[in-house]
Amino acid sequence: MAVTRFAPSPNGPLHLGHAYSAIIAHDLAKERGGKFLLRIEDIDGTRSRPELGDEFRRDLEWLGLEWDEVPAQSTRLETYDKAARELLEAGLLYPCTCTRAEIEALKPRLGPEGLVYPGTCKGRLLDPVKPAALRLDVDCAMARAGDLDWEDELAGRTTADPREAGDVVIVRKDAPASYHLAATLDDAADGVTLVTRGQDLFPATHIHRLLQALLGLPVPSWHHHGLLMDQSGKKLAKRRGSPSLADRRTGGEDGLLLAEQLRLHRFPAGISLAST
Ligand code: GLU
Repeated sequence: MAVTRFAPSPNGPLHLGHAYSAIIAHDLAKERGGKFLLRIEDIDGTRSRPELGDEFRRDLEWLGLEWDEVPAQSTRLETYDKAARELLEAGLLYPCTCTRAEIEALKPRLGPEGLVYPGTCKGRLLDPVKPAALRLDVDCAMARAGDLDWEDELAGRTTADPREAGDVVIVRKDAPASYHLAATLDDAADGVTLVTRGQDLFPATHIHRLLQALLGLPVPSWHHHGLLMDQSGKKLAKRRGSPSLADRRTGGEDGLLLAEQLRLHRFPAGISLAST
């Protein structure tokens, strides 16, 4: 059975791009007689606003979607902790006390996930007073996991190349897990068979595929859909004037009609779909 999911972070209101993503995941599940899950990814420290969860549910209902909700990430911290310990004990993580400013000062190369950490803290004795994140030793992890690939419904068979992103953070200084660890574990625990999300998260899949191999998790397929862009070619965001779904809903717009228009790729003026 196909199981897809929509996994918003309650850091800000949903907008049209989220609606498009949720509709795709919902429809793919329904077409295949499967299940569409909602998972609130609420472990983003101070940026997380729990009250937005209810707003998200109202938005999805307004769009005419039906879903099964699985537990929010904040209820799964023990699972993240256990997996992080397993990776640490396997010698695949190392603590890192570097701040963003310190990393920027090293002028590292820019990878698909931002600055590529040059491994400064690896094998170094660290100041125990400074807060530490845990990073994946990607070379060591790849040596352990061997060659990996994944099936993307749109991009086809893709070779996993997590080295591009370097030693990414697995346990954050300010949160019990990074997005990479939490989402990978959750998709496995929720029985997700088709991870449906925007192409902006395509680079993250290289890392998720590696984590699946290291943690012995089932391997789903992926469907990375195109992103909705505004007139300036940027991803939609409320701060750039793109109205939120809540604004549209409370302003009296017809959500069912909007959902139909998005399905037909009839986007509001100034909005277009970028395919890569
Ligand atoms: N929580 C992420 C976000 O809102 C999405 C994660 C995912 O779909 O894997 O951007």
